[in-house]
Amino acid sequence: MGSLELRNIRKSFGAQEVLKGIDLQVKDGEFVIFVGPSGCGKSTLLRSIAGLEDVTSGTVLINGEDVTVAPPAKRGIAMVFQTYALYPHLSVRDNMALGLKQAGTPTDEINTRVAAATEMLSLEPYLKRRPAELSGGQRQRVAIGRALVREPELFLFDEPLSNLDAALRVQTRVEIARLHRQLGATMIYVTHDQVEAMTLADRIVVLNGGVIEQIGSPMELYNRPANLFVAGFIGSPQ
Ligand code: ADP
Ligand code: MG
Repeated sequence: MGSLELRNIRKSFGAQEVLKGIDLQVKDGEFVIFVGPSGCGKSTLLRSIAGLEDVTSGTVLINGEDVTVAPPAKRGIAMVFQTYALYPHLSVRDNMALGLKQAGTPTDEINTRVAAATEMLSLEPYLKRRPAELSGGQRQRVAIGRALVREPELFLFDEPLSNLDAALRVQTRVEIARLHRQLGATMIYVTHDQVEAMTLADRIVVLNGGVIEQIGSPMELYNRPANLFVAGFIGSPQ
């Protein structure tokens, strides 16, 4: 289970309206990508789904349940950030375990889940290290591991590859695609990289200035862009 529905989501910061009425339905197990230029509201939309921003109006439903005013911990989501957001003073293992510990998960269960995530992401050699002793790619794997152990309904990724070099970007992208297949989990993923969007997405949501320009599969957007903006963004000939 991991469906999402957004109904007429609006979000303002002071006088600036950043999200101007977003409607979207994401099915259980779908991989949906938000693309759009810098400042168009991608992160704000993702943070609104996570509960890290309060929306100004509209409704957020996860698995059909209204979570619009629910705190992040009650939404069944896990988020992976561009900057990893790991705790520098904790080991890799403790970074992965911390959220579960805070949620009161029994120690046996924590150990089982951390072991499974460690195996899935090949993190065994790094468990005792601190984040500073890891490469960027390894840090991002730990951040993904920390999301995995929470067994969320919805994974949210905000430009998770942006700080990685080209080779690691490809490797980590392939790993995320594999996780999606293995877990069958719902994933919502922000990027401004067309290649990432075209290769990972079941459907792409093209945002511009706080509105959705078009929603469709990569091939639909490529073959039938709704307008010049989408065509320019997706890189299709028009
Ligand atoms: P994107 O992720 O697409 O680059 P953001 O969602 O981060 O865009 O930002 C959209 C707009 O909202 C930008 O103009 C940004 O300056 C503004 N914004 C984002 N967060 C805040 C905030 N906490 N306070 C004020 N303005 C914000
Ligand atoms: Mg952003």
